[in-house]
Amino acid sequence: MVAMERTSNEANSAVYDMVVVGGGPAGATAALYAARADLHTLVVDKGLRSGALGMAGSVANYPGVRGPVSGAVLVQRMRDQAQEHGAEFVQDKAMASLLGGASHEIIGTLGSYRGRSVVVATGSMGRTASTPGEERLVGKGVAYCATCDAAFFRNRDVAVVGTGEEAVEECLLIARFSSRVHLIVPAPALKVDAELAEEVADHPHVRLHRNTRLEEIIGEDKVEAVRVTGPDGESELRVDGVFIYLQGGKPVVDYLGGQLELTGTGCIRADEVLTTSVPGVFAAGDVLCRHLRQAVAAAAQGAQAAMAAERYLSGRARLRPDWG
Ligand SMILES: Cc1cc2nc3c(=O)[nH]c(=O)nc-3n(C[C@H](O)[C@H](O)[C@H](O)COP(=O)(O)OP(=O)(O)OC[C@H]3O[C@@H](n4cnc5c(N)ncnc54)[C@H](O)[C@@H]3O)c2cc1C
Repeated sequence: MVAMERTSNEANSAVYDMVVVGGGPAGATAALYAARADLHTLVVDKGLRSGALGMAGSVANYPGVRGPVSGAVLVQRMRDQAQEHGAEFVQDKAMASLLGGASHEIIGTLGSYRGRSVVVATGSMGRTASTPGEERLVGKGVAYCATCDAAFFRNRDVAVVGTGEEAVEECLLIARFSSRVHLIVPAPALKVDAELAEEVADHPHVRLHRNTRLEEIIGEDKVEAVRVTGPDGESELRVDGVFIYLQGGKPVVDYLGGQLELTGTGCIRADEVLTTSVPGVFAAGDVLCRHLRQAVAAAAQGAQAAMAAERYLSGRARLRPDWG
């Protein structure tokens, strides 16, 4: 089905039951559940390929979808399904917001969208690709998630770049598949506890490069090597993939203007039913920085947030279990 989109003028004039910001797996699933609960629902999204799943080259672990399929195809299917059930979509970028009161307002570049409830689902792509070659080779060997992509590098050589716990844990997971993992650490030492540092240093597949900076990712249609500068000067390492964990993913919350409470690491703080610090505003997906950052987890949180919003809107603020 070819999705029918709202123009921003049409969407501007209405007050929706729910405005979902972000149309990735979290937002599209929130919209599906909201629309099926008969809520007048609008999704504001800036682009199919701008989110994490939208830019994933190949997805093979989404239940019920035998892959590999491109991330963009999977997101489009989720959006089509939400639209078939009545959710509306508008392509716009949220720039600001006014949250609180009877209706909340999301202000985009093309117009403003008002909702009696809001689901924030803009993901965690706030770190801009900053290494030469990185942006061009995303999904072609440049990756950010071992759970998603490590298996594609079985018996291959890869580089992992980072200093913290996330980088080291992902490195150990990748080392189960890859023949050799170059762990490139742009600092004198890893910023992890001694036990984890020892485990990775002793791993037979891992080669540690301390005090080493990633300068460039080399390759035309796929990653072929990385250029690094270390204590012995500049060198090239032949690799088929690069997993980057620099500064971590940054939740996209700039348009919220500090109106929602965040955690110390800039993620949206939400309770177990995904209510944020502002009544009527819910959050789902990678903006929450929960343990498992995967499409299936984001979709599940989207469903939870939509159901919590439905209960909020109907005045049943206290949630009961669905089987109760
Ligand atoms: C390269 C890569 C490969 C991956 N591979 C897999 C995989 O194989 N399997 C798997 O399960 N997971 C994979 N992941 C992880 C998965 O993609 C994420 O966990 C998941 O997409 C999070 O869903 P989300 O809806 O929270 O965010 P996203 O998918 O990032 O969606 C956010 C949406 O918000 C929109 N948006 C952002 N800012 C704004 C704004 N200001 N205004 C309007 N819209 C906005 C974006 O356009 C986007 O559509 C991968 C991630 C990456 C980066």
